[in-house]
Amino acid sequence: MAKILMIYTGGTIGMVRNPETGVLEAFSAENLSANIPEMKYCGADVDMVSFDSPIDSSDMNPGHWSAIVRIICEHYEPYDGFVILHGTDTMAFTASALSFMLEGLGKPVILTGSQLPVEMIRSDAKENLLTAIEIAAAKDADGHPMVPEVCIYFHDELLRGNRSSKISAEYLAAFASNNYPVLAHTGTDITYHREFIRPYDPNVRLTPHYEMESGIVILSLFPGLQAEAVEEVLGQPSVKGVIFRTFGSGNAPRNERLLQALAKAVKAGKTIVNITQCATGSVQMKRYATGRQLLEAGVISGRDSTVEAALTKLMFLMGQGLSQAEIREKMNLSLAGEISLS
Ligand code: ASP
Repeated sequence: MAKILMIYTGGTIGMVRNPETGVLEAFSAENLSANIPEMKYCGADVDMVSFDSPIDSSDMNPGHWSAIVRIICEHYEPYDGFVILHGTDTMAFTASALSFMLEGLGKPVILTGSQLPVEMIRSDAKENLLTAIEIAAAKDADGHPMVPEVCIYFHDELLRGNRSSKISAEYLAAFASNNYPVLAHTGTDITYHREFIRPYDPNVRLTPHYEMESGIVILSLFPGLQAEAVEEVLGQPSVKGVIFRTFGSGNAPRNERLLQALAKAVKAGKTIVNITQCATGSVQMKRYATGRQLLEAGVISGRDSTVEAALTKLMFLMGQGLSQAEIREKMNLSLAGEISLS
């Protein structure tokens, strides 16, 4: 029987309603197991560890990501796979971060949660959790893990973690992977789409990373954005990198002051990554003059990254203490399947 370690960080899945205020608050791992007794019969041997104080995922930060990496590393050998129970709000950020921090991962790390608490009659918790365990335990015909990568399982779909975004605050189908195919669909069976899943490589070894640079901001363009405001942000010594959410295929207004502010920041050693505000598609800075000018200012293409993947990749690379040139080079590589290179 496969051995699975479940890591409970908090989130709606295990929350209960405070009778005085009526708001949902993080609760214990015991509450969760009591509400899903089927875990005992799910065909895997499941152990559970929990954050000392489970959290709403709005409180998640890079320190928590390092704590998760540490738990996985300390339990890596005896377990066949890992399921992380996590709030949905920032699940795609954590999944993206872990995909970079767990370099050389050769076992499944499946994040899941729910839109409704486990205690509610229509809750999606049970299905999400039990299927996530089944996927984490799944092996191929050679006995290798079926999905040796960081994924999100939610509402019948297995998505690559660093390709996922939360797209709905209401529907049970809360996540999408707009620029990469779904890795598995579940219905009466689980259908794996092997051609899209990272292949198992017996020669790689897990190399954990714990440092993430926090001096990064996300700037989102809109018609009328004042260049002075951008100048102000870029001039802050605490700002070392920027994820720049631009229009369409990576375009920005032809505003001399804005361009000079960007070029000056790049010369000062800051890294600026261009990603599109569109839900699908890729940055192509050579397509329009309004994009090319950003290239000439030294802005790097984030290609078809999600905002979550671009941000955590930059945090990760800067956390390694790499030079600006090395960061530029690595932003153009797919480190964990987070960008399409063609
Ligand atoms: N606020 C909750 C969280 O992210 C939402 C959820 O879990 O669905 O922790």
